[in-house]
Amino acid sequence: MTAPFSDLPLKPALLKNLASMNYTAMTEIQAKTLPIILDGKDVIAQAKTGSGKTAAFGLGVLHKLNVDQFRIQSLILCPTRELADQVAQELRRLARAIHNIKILTLCGGMPFGPQIGSLAHGAHIIVGTPGRIEEHLRKGTLSLEHADMLVFDEADRMLDMGFQDVMDTILAQVPAERQSLLFSATYPDEIGQLSARVMQKPVMVRIESAH
Ligand code: ADP
Ligand code: MG
Repeated sequence: MTAPFSDLPLKPALLKNLASMNYTAMTEIQAKTLPIILDGKDVIAQAKTGSGKTAAFGLGVLHKLNVDQFRIQSLILCPTRELADQVAQELRRLARAIHNIKILTLCGGMPFGPQIGSLAHGAHIIVGTPGRIEEHLRKGTLSLEHADMLVFDEADRMLDMGFQDVMDTILAQVPAERQSLLFSATYPDEIGQLSARVMQKPVMVRIESAH
């Protein structure tokens, strides 16, 4: 058994909500990454699908967030709309105890108009796909100047899909002074190259799957 979430110095509202979700014990990847994430360090995490990676970075993002500052504080990049929707859904469940939090998804394949309208109303967290995020930055409908928490979810898949250049364009528009988290199911060489460019002294956590 791994440790309970209550071992972590998480905001009480988050801990209470985790208990109501029946999230009691941390999964292995959560237990190994969350203390480092809460410490403010950059983390590269690799663990297989289904190991609870969303709550690992999600709790880090939600713990760091200041809901009273209504501006985009975190950007979470996902390879596809389906995955972005899943991440946003889990984040909203984890964030149920934080009143007035606004989590916005920005994905391709959806009309621009409503996204621009939502952006005009503001958000705390953006979850989206690289192509659409970059389009909003280019149009000037999105500013990431206060996004000091950046998450790459399923980074291996984003690289497979050829998002490298688009991610670099996005990275040029987020603060250099930030915390970056990279989550991946596999660890190809390209992940090391990406992390060397975008992260500062990252701590590496890899959970070997049993064979
Ligand atoms: P991954 O991103 O590693 O593929 P997910 O974040 O999608 O995994 O989590 C897989 C499932 O495990 C989800 O249904 C999620 O709700 C559940 N889960 C995650 N962490 C916990 C936990 N600590 N306790 C119970 N269930 C959890
Ligand atoms: Mg995942």
